[in-house]
Amino acid sequence: MKLLEDRIRQDSEVLPGDVLKINSFLNHQVDPELMMAVGKEFARLFDQSGVTKVLTCEASGIAPGVMAAYELHVPMVFARKKKPSTLNDAVYWADVYSYTKKTANQICVEQKFLHEDDNLLIIDDFLANGEAVKGMINIANQAKADVAGIGIVVAKTFQGGSSWIKEHGYRLESLANIASLANGEVQFADEK
Ligand code: 5GP
Repeated sequence: MKLLEDRIRQDSEVLPGDVLKINSFLNHQVDPELMMAVGKEFARLFDQSGVTKVLTCEASGIAPGVMAAYELHVPMVFARKKKPSTLNDAVYWADVYSYTKKTANQICVEQKFLHEDDNLLIIDDFLANGEAVKGMINIANQAKADVAGIGIVVAKTFQGGSSWIKEHGYRLESLANIASLANGEVQFADEK
C-alpha cells in the first residue's frame, strides 16, 4: 500500500533488534485518516470472505482493527493482555511471547464474544515471528471459529511469521512488506 510505505519512509526509525518504530502514526500517536485507509484496504481484500468479526490484540491492533471492522460492518473484539477485574465470565487464554518486550504474556478473550459460527479476520499492527497471530489463532480454535485470514499492517518478511502463516494454509494480507532493516535502513520487499 503506497500511502503506508510512503509514511514509513518519512516517519519511522529503525531501533536495535530489527524493531521499526512508528510511534507517530500507529503505535502511540495514531493518524486516523491513514488508519481509515488501512481499514478500507483490509475491507477491500476480505470483502468476499464472509467475515463476521475482526479479532485483534490490544493496544496497537485496535486502531487498524476497528477501522477494518467499521468498513466490513462487523464487530471488533480485541484480546486483552491482562484479565480485567470486571471480567468474571469464562475466557479463552493463549500464551504469547512478546517480540518487542522479550517476555512471555497471556492474552484473553471473553468466551461470549466468539462463536462456532464466526469467521474471523485476525488483524495486527506488526508481524515478526508470528507469536501474536499464533495466540489469536489458538483462541479462534478454542472457540471453534473459522479464520478467514490474517491482515497485517507491517510485515517484516525476513522474520518467521509470514512463512509460518502461509505454510499453515492461512491467507495472509500485509499492507507493507519489509524485507530488511539492516544498517538502519528500511527496505521494502517490492523494492528488492
Ligand atoms: P510477533 O508476535 O509476530 O513476533 O510480533 C508481533 C508483535 O510484536 C506485534 O503485535 C507488535 O506489537 C510487536 N512488534 C514486532 N515487531 C515490531 C516492530 O518492528 N515494531 C513495533 N513497533 N512493534 C513490533
